[in-house]
Amino acid sequence: MTTQVIGRKMYLAGKWVKRDRIIEVRDPQDNSLIDTVPAASVEDMIQCIEEAKEGARVAASMPVYKRMEIIHKAADYIEANDEKFARTIAREGSKTIREARKEVKRCIQTLRISAEEARRINGETIPFDQMEGSENRVGYYYRFPIGIVGAITPFNDPLNLVAHKVGPAIAAGNAIIVKPSTLTPLSALLLAEAFDEAGLPPKILSVVTGYGSEIGDVLVTHPDIRMISFTGGVEAGEEIIRKAGLKKISMELGSNSPVIVLEDADLDEAVESTVSGAFWAAGQNCIGVQRVYVQESIMDAFQKKFVERTNQYCVGDKQSELTDMGPLITEKEAIRVEHLVNEAVEAGAILLTGGKRSGAFYWPTVLTNVPEECRIAKEEVFGPIVLLYPVKDLDTAIEKSNAVNYGLQAGIFTNNLQKAYKAIEKMDVGGIMINDSSDYRIDAMPFGGVKKSGLGREGIKFAIQEMTEPKVVCFKLCN
Ligand code: NAP
Repeated sequence: MTTQVIGRKMYLAGKWVKRDRIIEVRDPQDNSLIDTVPAASVEDMIQCIEEAKEGARVAASMPVYKRMEIIHKAADYIEANDEKFARTIAREGSKTIREARKEVKRCIQTLRISAEEARRINGETIPFDQMEGSENRVGYYYRFPIGIVGAITPFNDPLNLVAHKVGPAIAAGNAIIVKPSTLTPLSALLLAEAFDEAGLPPKILSVVTGYGSEIGDVLVTHPDIRMISFTGGVEAGEEIIRKAGLKKISMELGSNSPVIVLEDADLDEAVESTVSGAFWAAGQNCIGVQRVYVQESIMDAFQKKFVERTNQYCVGDKQSELTDMGPLITEKEAIRVEHLVNEAVEAGAILLTGGKRSGAFYWPTVLTNVPEECRIAKEEVFGPIVLLYPVKDLDTAIEKSNAVNYGLQAGIFTNNLQKAYKAIEKMDVGGIMINDSSDYRIDAMPFGGVKKSGLGREGIKFAIQEMTEPKVVCFKLCN
């Protein structure tokens, strides 16, 4: 498939601008040039923040019905151009066209929910007279917008994860500056186009394309940025936290999610769900299944079905309707994953299927017998790799599931209510799915993790909470 390289502009405080320095955006499957975007400078970011101060004032004074109208119009624009959005995701990212279409549908949902949540940004009355001496006081609190939100986003959901920050920020009456992944900036620019077409006043939204290593610090450390909403890897997340200073921080980081399969589970259902959860977006998914703990009595049967189903996966051209899995985001990433697998095999792991690489493609890979001290067993792989472990019972499975530094989501397959409830109580995660894999999410639910998986929650209503502050109002009444 060929596309015309036209040289995209970035969206700086409501204006579409070009710069001489550019970033090449390449298709990971064949390294072909798709387009270019400006490489924003430090001065661009500073200017953008200056303009966003005015944007924040405009956004805060925009009535809720108007915010709702604009966000719905942006969603309408995406709906009317859904195939263009999907093809862009499937070109610059590593998703297949079928996966990309699902992301576009979810993005529309994210925006529609954001519009609806705008009307529910409520406060409460406060019974001040609970305190002796406060009998003649009445009041309430309401939530006001935080100001300017700095959003930094990763490559793996280049549209919907940006919408998860832009939708709530605008619904709450904030200005927002997005720094998308350098690898996948085109989808974020399309989202800016949707808001521009929807009539969003200038200066409320910017999508600044540039290298995190060059312009990230300005955004993160600037005193007028009141909140950093970051989604990405732990390493970058920790660096941002160290530098950010006194501002709100929301961190959506990685994981190596566990799934437990007990002997009373529906085996076919568990296999179908965990295979899909492991290989969605070539495993580049923060809630992707990485570790599966299977009760010993059903291990052989589960493993056989799991490998059979994995071997049915069609790996190849992302634009083909027949393809189940595309490449990793770069060849470098595929080589990193290959090293992790080879290291595990050298340490005694058994390769049941996969373990093959060609350029940026790495085939769906299933391992057993992986020593627990291997990096692949402890760290986030962020690739199409899944580790199967037999376990004696639920307690062992829970203990092993928790024995990592992450805790985003988990899954358990069982029809035993007591056991499901035990897992709910004992597993250290931000979300647990019963009879689904860790890879289940809707956009309206609270989403986020514990331990190194993050801080704070997204899922529109919850992001709005983080992007607003309560203001207390108290009237002292005269007698
Ligand atoms: P990444 O390398 O951490 O990059 C994420 C974003 O941060 C990019 O825009 C990057 O810019 C920017 N960045 C990097 N270092 C920075 C710094 N020092 N200051 C400011 N910005 C900086 O992550 P990725 O490889 O794109 O994404 C994969 C990771 O994201 C995985 O760990 C995955 O689990 C996590 N993730 C988490 C969630 C969640 O909701 N919990 C969802 C999706 C992904 P450049 O592109 O210019 O380097």
